[in-house]
Amino acid sequence: MPAVTADTLSLTKIETPGPDAVSRPVRSVTTAPRGHEGLGFPVRRAFAGVDLSQLDPFLHMDEMGEVDYAPGEPRGTDWHPHRGFETVTYMLDGTFLHQDSHGGGGVITDGATQWMTAGGGILHIETPPEQLVLSGGRFHGIQLWVNLPAAQKMVAPRYQNLEAANVQLLSSADGGALVRLIAGELGGHRGPGATYTPITVAHVTVSAGAQTTLPWPPGFNALAYVLSGAGTLGAERRPVEAGQLAVFGPGDALSLGGSRDRGLDVMVLGGRPLREPVAAYGPFVMNTRAELVQAVDDFQSGRLGRVPEDGLRPFHP
Ligand code: MN
Repeated sequence: MPAVTADTLSLTKIETPGPDAVSRPVRSVTTAPRGHEGLGFPVRRAFAGVDLSQLDPFLHMDEMGEVDYAPGEPRGTDWHPHRGFETVTYMLDGTFLHQDSHGGGGVITDGATQWMTAGGGILHIETPPEQLVLSGGRFHGIQLWVNLPAAQKMVAPRYQNLEAANVQLLSSADGGALVRLIAGELGGHRGPGATYTPITVAHVTVSAGAQTTLPWPPGFNALAYVLSGAGTLGAERRPVEAGQLAVFGPGDALSLGGSRDRGLDVMVLGGRPLREPVAAYGPFVMNTRAELVQAVDDFQSGRLGRVPEDGLRPFHP
């Protein structure tokens, strides 16, 4: 992804929270363990070890890579189902081709986001294009699972292709932070992604040595996952580095600081908690065990959709 900093662009500035704003403390910092997903691509489990009640309305987040693949190594997922939530894929480096059984699909690359509502059920695949499998290359992205409220778990599937050019670029008032607002609202500005419940998802780059404060809705939870670099988070300026997740306590502002030499690159996300029971099994997230049994049965009976005959397939060199 091209290097862009707030002070190289003339951007709309986010108003700094007023003197009465309470900067949220950091409640916990956890380090994401490494694992593998799909057909074997390396991930970090960003939310591992954190109670769902603190993540709500989010369920799961993987950082894909960052990895420099040799020729022949890039891989993604094969066709698989989902029901009851939304999957969000944000690509910083590398490319995924995406296709689903509901007619959605596209190319996700260079800062683009694919926001897929599985709702009542869908099958999909995310796989690197043949050319990239053959060449190898850098691969870095985020996959986020956003829960749906009980009343909307069975909505019709929806596909939002949010190109990098559609993302709302903003800067902090002092120019020290660049904000790519992907979905929801931040300081009265709105990102392109439509959500079923109030949610804000942003990728924030804090310049080296900068200290910035962003407004944050008091009714939302607040999470920050460090993609690269190092710095500090929260009112107490807690040190964090790449691969760490901070869960913030209550307040109405978020303080972020970039380390003197590297700066800080973070995913910042939050939303109004659903506070509903979560029953999860593999790719299905419902409210009750009976609904999970139904989901498995519906999938096995082909009621979540069928793989198109001429659909994408993983490319094996
Ligand atoms: Mn999936």
